Amino acid sequence: MSRTLFEKIIAREIPADIVFEDDAVLAFRDIHPQAPTHVLVIPKKVIPRIAEAGSADQDLLGRLLLSAAQVAERLGLKSGGYRLVINNGPHGGETVPHLHCHLLGGRPMTWPPG
Ligand code: 5GP
Repeated sequence: MSRTLFEKIIAREIPADIVFEDDAVLAFRDIHPQAPTHVLVIPKKVIPRIAEAGSADQDLLGRLLLSAAQVAERLGLKSGGYRLVINNGPHGGETVPHLHCHLLGGRPMTWPPG
């Protein structure tokens, strides 16, 4: 299978505005922001989408969410609040088949989403 855009960002083959990185997780600003702050938090491990994650990924998924919360705090979103979104498959609006959590903040969010 060909490598995704996000694998190329992890490998620094495509530039991105990286805001957080550790051994397992990378976070970078979305190229088409839907809020004043819009960051994508991704595992470095290739998992196409949450539906393909398995029990072996339990710790990694925890780290992904905790990293998202840490990035949100670092970017000043903790007090105002923020939204974390994972799009899964065609009806979920997924366009890049590498698991990612959207971190959106800096404005009030509406519900339900479109
Ligand atoms: P999805 O629609 O799969 O949930 O989210 C994919 C996200 O990747 C979209 O919000 C889109 O704007 C973002 N994106 C697509 N191409 C690039 C890129 O080259 N760089 C960055 N930083 N984000 C991208």
